[in-house]
Amino acid sequence: MDLGFTDAQLAFRDEVRAFLASSLTERLRQGAALTSGVFAEPDIAREWQAILDARGWLVYHWPQAAGGPGWSPLQRWIFEKECALAGAPALPGMGLKLVGPVLYTFASEDQKAHYLPRLRSAEHVWAQGFSEPGSGSDLASLRTRASREGDEYIVSGHKIWTTQAQFANQIFALVRTDPTVKPQKGISFLLIDMASPGISVQPILSASGDHELNEVFFDEVRVPVANRVGEEGQGWPIAKFLLENERGGSSFGPQLMADLARLRDASGPWTGEIAERGKRLRLEAEALEMTELRTLIEIEAGGATSLRSLTTKLVASEIRQGIDLLAVDAFGMAGLQLPTERPFYETQAPSAFGSPQAQIAAARYLNSRSWSIFGGTSEIQLTIIAKAALGL
Ligand SMILES: Cc1cc2nc3c(=O)[nH]c(=O)nc-3n(C[C@H](O)[C@H](O)[C@H](O)COP(=O)(O)OP(=O)(O)OC[C@H]3O[C@@H](n4cnc5c(N)ncnc54)[C@H](O)[C@@H]3O)c2cc1C
Repeated sequence: MDLGFTDAQLAFRDEVRAFLASSLTERLRQGAALTSGVFAEPDIAREWQAILDARGWLVYHWPQAAGGPGWSPLQRWIFEKECALAGAPALPGMGLKLVGPVLYTFASEDQKAHYLPRLRSAEHVWAQGFSEPGSGSDLASLRTRASREGDEYIVSGHKIWTTQAQFANQIFALVRTDPTVKPQKGISFLLIDMASPGISVQPILSASGDHELNEVFFDEVRVPVANRVGEEGQGWPIAKFLLENERGGSSFGPQLMADLARLRDASGPWTGEIAERGKRLRLEAEALEMTELRTLIEIEAGGATSLRSLTTKLVASEIRQGIDLLAVDAFGMAGLQLPTERPFYETQAPSAFGSPQAQIAAARYLNSRSWSIFGGTSEIQLTIIAKAALGL
């Protein structure tokens, strides 16, 4: 397999590099580097989203018919690699990576015309209302009820672990529209305005001190039937489509490699056990990157998605947690501080003991424990691999 890039691909890489050099301001880089959570804080994300949209590269992973730039899988990888190397902010995925593809794939023309432009402009900020207390891995057991009354559904129930719901003005939710049939057949996919009467949001503070997660309560919330995506009872296949994007929508290797290199620069020189762990993590991240690249090259050559892509979220979670644990150890005493104030950048930042990178190490370590839980736990990933790839 040839991993060399063509002249056209190298020219594209240079174009992306030049764009990042001119557009990614120091404020945006700092905001990205000093974020302990999975996604950039809203002010940073909104600014970067507008810059990407103006350049036509915001929805780079969407097909051209849906407004994407028409890039090949390898161009998308090059873009992600350059963004990681440059230290670009991680945009929240709930709109762009999760509900966006659902909308252009399953929604009516009216829904597409209403929702897709607002998603891109960030007029709509989305949250994902799937998990409930007792229904996470076993999502099909969800109980949030949507009863039909004329041209409305009356929604009552309780969602949990809802990332950034405190900033969202829209939520896409799985609801039970028919409790009498097999669980998977009685679920529908609704788009709900967070300003609807009867919705309340309660924060969940993580061990890291971050407020990313929430509970969302629905108390007889009226939702127009016109806000349902797909047919009634078609929510489960739509959710499965969405979860595949959540687990494998992007490459993980480039970000992990870039973060490890930045950690070495900020906390090095490494010696002894720290250096050994750093080398091992680098090898693992490089192997993951090559695996992802190999799959993309095969897809670009007309092949199907390889079963090996099932392993990437699981492996990436382990490397992510390894890097963040290494950071705590590499920074020594300074890596143990855990301020409760947020954000960590600009004038509001809490005062640091040691460097700002050392200051966020413990928060990042605690925050990244969630990698082996969200989007399907590592145990569930292993079960999928055992069944789909190994035939067990
Ligand atoms: C940071 C973070 C962000 C999240 N954001 C969102 C969001 O925005 N929207 C949303 O809807 N959800 C979100 N989630 C929820 C996430 O999808 C669930 O936490 C996840 O699916 C696990 O479900 P659970 O928490 O109910 O755990 P459970 O399913 O109760 O699992 C508990 C433990 O049992 C294990 N287990 C369960 N079933 C099996 C099995 N069949 N075989 C082997 N082991 C099993 C699990 O691996 C886990 O270790 C988020 C979670 C986190 C941590």
